[in-house]
Amino acid sequence: MTNAYILKKHRGAVADIHDHLGFSGVVVTDSGAYQILRYGDVEVSNREIVQYQCEIKSDIGVILDIPTSSDVDRDAALKSADETYRRAVEVLDIVERCGDTLWTLPIQGGTHLDILRQYAERSVEVFYRGYSIYALGSPTTLLEQYDFDRIIDMIFAVRSIIPFSTPLHLFGAGHPLIVPFAAALGVDTMDSASYILYAKDDRYMGSRATYRLEDLSYFPCTCPVCSKYSPEDVRRMPKRKRVELLALHNLHALSREFREVKQAIKEGRLWEYLEDRANSHPATRRAFEQLKRYLEFIYRHTPIVKPDARAVFILSEDSIFNPKIMIPRRRVLERFDSEVECIDLIPYRRGEGFPDSGIGESKCASYIYFPILGIAPLHLVDRYPYSQFEFGFKVTDKIVSDLSYLIFEALLKMLKISRTIVVNIYVCSNVEWQKELYRKLINLAQQVGESSVKIVLKAAKCRLSAPG
Ligand SMILES: [Zn+2]
Repeated sequence: MTNAYILKKHRGAVADIHDHLGFSGVVVTDSGAYQILRYGDVEVSNREIVQYQCEIKSDIGVILDIPTSSDVDRDAALKSADETYRRAVEVLDIVERCGDTLWTLPIQGGTHLDILRQYAERSVEVFYRGYSIYALGSPTTLLEQYDFDRIIDMIFAVRSIIPFSTPLHLFGAGHPLIVPFAAALGVDTMDSASYILYAKDDRYMGSRATYRLEDLSYFPCTCPVCSKYSPEDVRRMPKRKRVELLALHNLHALSREFREVKQAIKEGRLWEYLEDRANSHPATRRAFEQLKRYLEFIYRHTPIVKPDARAVFILSEDSIFNPKIMIPRRRVLERFDSEVECIDLIPYRRGEGFPDSGIGESKCASYIYFPILGIAPLHLVDRYPYSQFEFGFKVTDKIVSDLSYLIFEALLKMLKISRTIVVNIYVCSNVEWQKELYRKLINLAQQVGESSVKIVLKAAKCRLSAPG
């Protein structure tokens, strides 16, 4: 990614940007909007710079939008969003004519979510007349202040309105910590000058935080820079060399994060990765908590296919929101729609099979139960995700409560069709949380009256202890 504005200003006409750079890959050109954000103004018009990007054969170009900085009031935000939209319309003839370049349509409005939504809506029609990529600007200041939750809101405001099949670029998102959360909400590409700006300020990007060079005793990284030098070595270098090395490391740190996220997506493990990242820093925890407000949106756009990964990792209480768990959980619940008089609830013990002979043969409908995963008909035990998961923490009271409410919800659905239901709950005598689940179900059943739901405690034959 390079800057068409600076190129035009210093070099003027260039026949082909690829030849000029000696680079045959995809070249993205920015328009100078970033310079507006940083320095106030640029000496080029929107039409001029769009035409210029066309002439130098840029692969991806951007109109000269007016970035909304994050600290402006509503009027100023509205003005920049409106002017950006006007400029997108202004160059439609060039954009349509110059079809070899993919054109980016920025949506502005800063942290004013209603403005973002309004201009996202207005942009949709313009988009289809020649644009290929939407962009959202510019969270740079928010990132510097670790204000990640507001960035999450901004992304959602736009992503929830533009068609899901269209790519979304996030301007200025140059910190490793925000990358997985932006990707989870459907951001496809990002760019930033942060690697060099941080370097000039002696800041070192880590996967868990940003460090000041003076505070580091060790480089927590094994990139070529960090393998060769110690922080002390770099501190002693002249400014120019120091900036170069820090910039190089920062690029490695960003590149590494992008690869991690892409691999997690390939494996169908992005949620697990988010759970892990949420524990890196208070800002990522806030981003994660904010992301949870948009779960329904994420579920709607999660493909219902078995991912490549071997097993779902259940890592924390937040694993319950993992689309790979929540989507099947809900689907099971939707299917309580035929007349049943009794159900067997059997604790699921992976790898142990079902030693309680006779359970599957009773006249009752048989369901397995398991923390976080919920309940599932016995015949789904061999299916994903019930067949492939790893549970890795202590079963808390909150999780047992959640399971009891889930079962109760299923019972209420059944009571719409059947007048009475007997629930045989099989419990391992050595597993505390199962006994607690039984107690909670008794309490819940009292709410609908014992004549409707009868909870019967049964002893499960358990060889090994279940989780918890
Ligand atoms: Zn490094």
